[in-house]
Amino acid sequence: MTATAATPGTDHLALADEWSTHNYHPLPVVVAEGEGAWVTDVRGRRFLDFLAGYSALNFGHRHPALLAAATEQLGRLTLTSRAFHHDQFGPFCRELAELTGTEMVLPMNTGAEAVESAIKVARKWAYQVKGVPADTAEILVVGDNFHGRTTTIISFSTDPTARDGFGPFTPGFRVLPYGDAPALAAAITDRTAAVLLEPIQGEAGVTVPPPGYLAEVRRLCDAENVLLVADEIQSGLARTGALFALDHEAVRADLYTLGKALGGGILPVSAVVGRRDVLGVLRPGEHGSTFGGNPLSCAVARAVIALLATGEFQHRSTTLGAHLHTRLNALVGKGVTAVTGRGLWAGVRLTSLSGRAASEALVERGVLCKETHGNTLRMAPPLVVTEAEIDLAVDALAAVLG
Ligand code: PLP
Repeated sequence: MTATAATPGTDHLALADEWSTHNYHPLPVVVAEGEGAWVTDVRGRRFLDFLAGYSALNFGHRHPALLAAATEQLGRLTLTSRAFHHDQFGPFCRELAELTGTEMVLPMNTGAEAVESAIKVARKWAYQVKGVPADTAEILVVGDNFHGRTTTIISFSTDPTARDGFGPFTPGFRVLPYGDAPALAAAITDRTAAVLLEPIQGEAGVTVPPPGYLAEVRRLCDAENVLLVADEIQSGLARTGALFALDHEAVRADLYTLGKALGGGILPVSAVVGRRDVLGVLRPGEHGSTFGGNPLSCAVARAVIALLATGEFQHRSTTLGAHLHTRLNALVGKGVTAVTGRGLWAGVRLTSLSGRAASEALVERGVLCKETHGNTLRMAPPLVVTEAEIDLAVDALAAVLG
């Protein structure tokens, strides 16, 4: 047996409990293999993966084109650091810019790093281009946001669990109500560098803002010379049936933060993409990452970009998402109060069961998904899921709500 093979008889839950920090509350399942929309646990039980790594697995587990790209690149070159050029870097940046209709790419690794990078770039732009007095720039954010876990990002979280015990916090942010354009209009000042928001709030419960809100945010940003930074780390890259969730409102951002699915479920790849006159403010040494834009990441991400360029996954998310939402909406009044979301992404508000209790009961029925907050269940299957698999998951939920 190799060291990495599943080890029968090992009490994985006990090992994790004793030896890992308890910063997560995972479901009691120990996954050993994955293929497409399915995973198999160490005991050989199969589960439908209806979480898809919080959208990092948009193309399913071990998509053949992505595995092939990774394997090919593993055989050639994996890391250079940005001290040297490598042959995957330029093509990756051009292809990502072309796919997203943007002008420049800043590669990083995790989502939180992309958001941190966008914050730095927006501040620098405010001082250098907009003329905001040094160290006074403000970034407007919205309540119930989720942009990651770093100290600066939790500084503007409204979730006590994310914040309590981790101060002092980074200044320079102001939190406004999500979906409230007049509040935003009133909050913009000469010192406002940017508005940062999720076009659909994932962790908050797959919450879609009121129609017209995002277009109005864009209009206000244009009128006031403020950057619109869209965090599409969870909502982007075909999850909602379009490349970006913003596309549904025909709105463009000045900067987009991307992550999760950009790494094809294989490795962490993130980026900030956007306007040249904004990202162009960075000079050598001002920002960076040893691993950001490494050859392996770029090769996998190029294969992701090629998949997205076909439009197949956007189409699947649209048509199969309509089926998912139709099936889930039929549960309203039967243990469900409302269903939110777009495409293959749904927040299911439960009447009496907590999201956690529903997730645990679904494990017993062979479906893996996860609560967001309180009584909301998040469903986000890989975009390779079939209609029959969606039926299986919704039938399992109906039985749990019974
Ligand atoms: N932004 C959004 C919208 C997210 O959903 C997440 C993760 O869930 C992040 C940022 C942080 O990404 P990461 O966990 O890769 O740092």
